[in-house]
Amino acid sequence: MILPLALPQTYTYAIPTEFLAKVKPGCRAEVELKNKKYAGVVKSIIDKEPGYQTKPLLNVLDDEAIVYPQQLQLWQWMAQYYMCTEGEVMAAALPAHFKLSSETILLYNEEAGDDFSHLGDEEFLVAEALLIKKELRLSEVQQILDINHVYPVIKKLIEKKVCLVWESLDERYKAKKENYVILNPAFNNEEELSKKLNDWKGAPKQMELLLAYLHLEKQEADVLQTELLKKSGATAAQLKGLTDKNILWVEKRSMDRIKTLPRNVEIDFEFNEAQQQASDAVIKSFEDKAVCLLHGVTGSGKTQVYVKLMEQYFKAGRQVLYLLPEIALTAQIIRRLQKHFGGNIAIYHSKFNDNERIELWNKVRTGEIKMVLGARSALFLPFKELGLIIVDEEHDASYKQQDPSPRYNARDAAIYYAHLFNAQVLLGSATPSVESYYNATNDKYALVELKERFGGINLPAIDIVNVRQVAQKGKVMISPQLKEAMEQALDGGKQVILFQNRRGYNPYLICGTCGFIPQCTHCSVSLTLHKYSNKLHCHYCGSQYPKLVTCPACGSNNWQEKNFGTEKIEEQLEEDFPKYKVARMDVDSVRGKKAHDNLIQLFEQHRLDILVGTQMVVKGLDFDKVSLVGILDADGLLSFADFRVNERAFQLMEQVSGRAGRKNAQGKVVIQATNVKHPVLQLVQQHDYKTFYENEIINRKEFFYPPFSRVVLLTLKHKDKNTVDNAADKLAALLRQDLKDYIVGPAAPVINRIRDQYLAEILIKLPKEPGMSMTYKRVIRNHINLLQGEKMYKSVQVIADVDTN
Ligand code: ADP
Ligand code: ZN
Ligand code: ZN
Repeated sequence: MILPLALPQTYTYAIPTEFLAKVKPGCRAEVELKNKKYAGVVKSIIDKEPGYQTKPLLNVLDDEAIVYPQQLQLWQWMAQYYMCTEGEVMAAALPAHFKLSSETILLYNEEAGDDFSHLGDEEFLVAEALLIKKELRLSEVQQILDINHVYPVIKKLIEKKVCLVWESLDERYKAKKENYVILNPAFNNEEELSKKLNDWKGAPKQMELLLAYLHLEKQEADVLQTELLKKSGATAAQLKGLTDKNILWVEKRSMDRIKTLPRNVEIDFEFNEAQQQASDAVIKSFEDKAVCLLHGVTGSGKTQVYVKLMEQYFKAGRQVLYLLPEIALTAQIIRRLQKHFGGNIAIYHSKFNDNERIELWNKVRTGEIKMVLGARSALFLPFKELGLIIVDEEHDASYKQQDPSPRYNARDAAIYYAHLFNAQVLLGSATPSVESYYNATNDKYALVELKERFGGINLPAIDIVNVRQVAQKGKVMISPQLKEAMEQALDGGKQVILFQNRRGYNPYLICGTCGFIPQCTHCSVSLTLHKYSNKLHCHYCGSQYPKLVTCPACGSNNWQEKNFGTEKIEEQLEEDFPKYKVARMDVDSVRGKKAHDNLIQLFEQHRLDILVGTQMVVKGLDFDKVSLVGILDADGLLSFADFRVNERAFQLMEQVSGRAGRKNAQGKVVIQATNVKHPVLQLVQQHDYKTFYENEIINRKEFFYPPFSRVVLLTLKHKDKNTVDNAADKLAALLRQDLKDYIVGPAAPVINRIRDQYLAEILIKLPKEPGMSMTYKRVIRNHINLLQGEKMYKSVQVIADVDTN
């Protein structure tokens, strides 16, 4: 059994005879561990007694497995590869409603109403208690029912939507609700349904309405009550007649759950020659390679290549998963794919509430849903006949989960998962990760290139402006050159995107008299001034502080504002370009998915002229009227102390540049920098990914970084600085006994305290010897356990991050 806990092992339970027929791998079962109850997932069934006392399982919760063997394999692989436990992977993989434990809090679902006549006796008791108390712990449910086996009751109540599980609380009040009509599942069976229709007596209008419903349901996945009544010309009373007969049900649901789109496929474009060749090459490559990297410049039509490929797999009856780095940022791609695939493509991400997630989960499991678009967590869906995974923008760092465990990279895990199905993987990017490009040029993956933009438009021309010359003091925000280019673009009816990787107003303040810089009291980080709140914010722990009037160090009142964030740029633009509409896109301005979508739509519809933003403006967006892009502070991108700094900077700049001049005419990019001779800037200017890669790979080899080694970053955390430093010294010494030269550090990271915890890091660069990776990781794990076994270091937290980025 796998339990949803960070426990290192799996557990064995005895199967009472009554459950023998029912229990299968992939089913959930209720078990007890240390006086608490959990719904765990059965991993495997063994015939022999293990030679120690086993407790019996208490209940089997599912008739059918909720996950396939491939999921169980994926979890196990992830746990080993990313140095975490299968329980942690399971906890990340399953929607909350599948995870029950004594600690689970159940909430009364306000939408359920108070008519509980359809419930069984035990369900009824719990529902009544929920109605009164609004929330119950599972342990309280146990007391109410006074029986031991409450999980099956809870499961029914969840299925009947009387209760919700706590985790989904935030989602409850947001979405707008509409009435949907569904067929009583009893009639999903063809035979039952035709019997009902053949035996029909009287009420011909109701019969007509039912037939209209069946017709509509075929075209659209979900049937809206209003639409059904309109299309059938029936009345609400006739519908009520059918619901009274318990043939149709009416359900209140949020609008944006599963999209009510017709299930059409419409491919309304033709490839150009380059795309055709690329597409043929991809398909050919899948004959002998499982993974293909599509390296296509921005605007070359990679998405179109994906679309036709998806269509092929879809027609062959295979399932397709389309992964995107961050779903919240992708209303545009959703619209594009829905245009082609309608209701055949479902969208899955963590922002959806749990009922929706479970519904989709089951539809993917049965194979009803063939195409899914999702962010990294969609990888955990139980595909039945997976044929293809597309990893769009495969270089993107947000494929890597940072926190909590499992700290997996969805791109890499996708390759493993696909292999379990003999499925193919298409990685796509204009700026591939160094790792993927290395694999593609070393014959591990196939490589297919698209070198030109669709429509033959040239990639944007890039001006690098030296802002040092213009600078008197402090950084120049908008250089005269950029301003002029903006005026030209805007006066010509075009749009402009400005990119700055810092949000807020001023990244930091400094006392002009004594040099004091306000810092967070919980983190070793300088505070950012935000105008909208008029407060100083810590971007690491979220603390906010009132603006300082006098300097706490010298008492003077002489603050200098240093550097500039998106807020300040926005303010300046409003002053400089009063005729034009300016909008800002960063996590402060777009809280929630809707705000972000709205902003993108406004920009798309040309109701905004200038968009200034952080990383968010970079991601794969396709606007046709943007002719100019400004990168305001390239130095900032090139100054991180990280082995991936050049790669990240190149990718970011090339990607933002890629937003300029995608249609109609060549675009222009202005990059502001002081270190204008920086080789990465020169290569961005020439759009020369290959040379960038060739330079970079030499460095990686010389310093034994990925793809030549596999990095594991250990981060130690403790509230006491000495303790964490000593622990890090000790752990590094232990590791050196076995892994000698592979150990770098320990060292304090640049930001060495976050949320009152001091940090220390040890970097391990493991050689890529076939078959050794698991052994090395076991060695590392053992040493961590040894360290934490010592009394003084017991409370030191050690986090292992494999393939850190
Ligand atoms: P990429 O994903 O490589 O950046 P896109 O797929 O977004 O490129 O294509 C850029 C633009 O060109 C999009 O607006 C797309 O609709 C258009 N486009 C690309 N290929 C075709 C095609 N074969 N027919 C029509 N439009 C195309
Ligand atoms: Zn001072
Ligand atoms: Zn802080």
